[in-house]
Amino acid sequence: MTETLLEIQDLNVEYKTKSVLSGKEKTIHAVNGVNLKINKGEILAIAGESGCGKSTLAKALMKLIDVKSGKINIDGTNIVNLRNHKELQNFYKKVQIIFQNPYSSLNPKMKIGDILKESLEINTNLGKAEIQKIVEEKISLVGLDKNSLNLYPHEFSGGQRQRIAIARALVLNPEFIIADEPVSALDVSIQAQIINLLRELKEKLNLTFLFISHDLSVIKYLSDRIAIMYLGEIVETGLTEEIFSSPKHPYTQALLSAVPELGTNHKEKISLTGELPSPENLPQGCKFHTRCPQAMDICKTISPKEIDFSPTHNCKCHLYNSMV
Ligand code: SF4
Repeated sequence: MTETLLEIQDLNVEYKTKSVLSGKEKTIHAVNGVNLKINKGEILAIAGESGCGKSTLAKALMKLIDVKSGKINIDGTNIVNLRNHKELQNFYKKVQIIFQNPYSSLNPKMKIGDILKESLEINTNLGKAEIQKIVEEKISLVGLDKNSLNLYPHEFSGGQRQRIAIARALVLNPEFIIADEPVSALDVSIQAQIINLLRELKEKLNLTFLFISHDLSVIKYLSDRIAIMYLGEIVETGLTEEIFSSPKHPYTQALLSAVPELGTNHKEKISLTGELPSPENLPQGCKFHTRCPQAMDICKTISPKEIDFSPTHNCKCHLYNSMV
């Protein structure tokens, strides 16, 4: 039986920026009414264009930014309001993040051993010998020699640095890892090695992953389930094979049609006309209607409801209203 690790309920994240020209304050609606479940032991991928809100969602899940409203339940605890030091320590033992850029995420002035020890020293009461044992174990788990612990980040390649960032994410033995575009800053030849490492670690350590990427071929290879995000909303979710063999939402169909080598059922490229609307000025009704090749009048005023195609596959689109 599948067990839920993370449940996001009606999550909204917005932030303020100032217009360079007018100096007026603007509200960016980055995440809008997201509902999502992640089961223990699965890799759920979030896909969507740049600016769709996927990285903001990751930051909200890591408590790196405040949320406007909604709940994020991890193992039954709503983490949105955690403020107490002890509660936060327990939270960061469970949940860790791997960032996109291994060049900027490691402190260039610290040796790798010290980088890995840091969160153990902050978040546990373990002694020096135990901490040393853990960092040696984790560095070898990601395929690096323990002599690496005495070197600085600039002495490693991009792929090796991402291995170090993964080792750092593992030192507290988390059960849930958010990987935010973990291979997009790496050479293509190195990407496959890191993806395979994540897959191996998931099996070996029984991890659960939220994997954020704009690269559908990586997602197809790695993920168990996929959520498609557009302008801060999840518009379709399904098992990886359901999304690739039978995408329902016109936005998902357009994304997949842009990568014909993935072997989807959509052979013809679907071109989206029009720009991605600004998240400070979201369209009424279906947020995709300004670019959707199949938009109808109803789409301009009424937001579509979620429609189920199977117990694991659903999407929000008025094209399927007759199925309700
Ligand atoms: Fe297109 Fe309308 Fe469906 Fe939105 S609801 S995706 S505009 S057909």
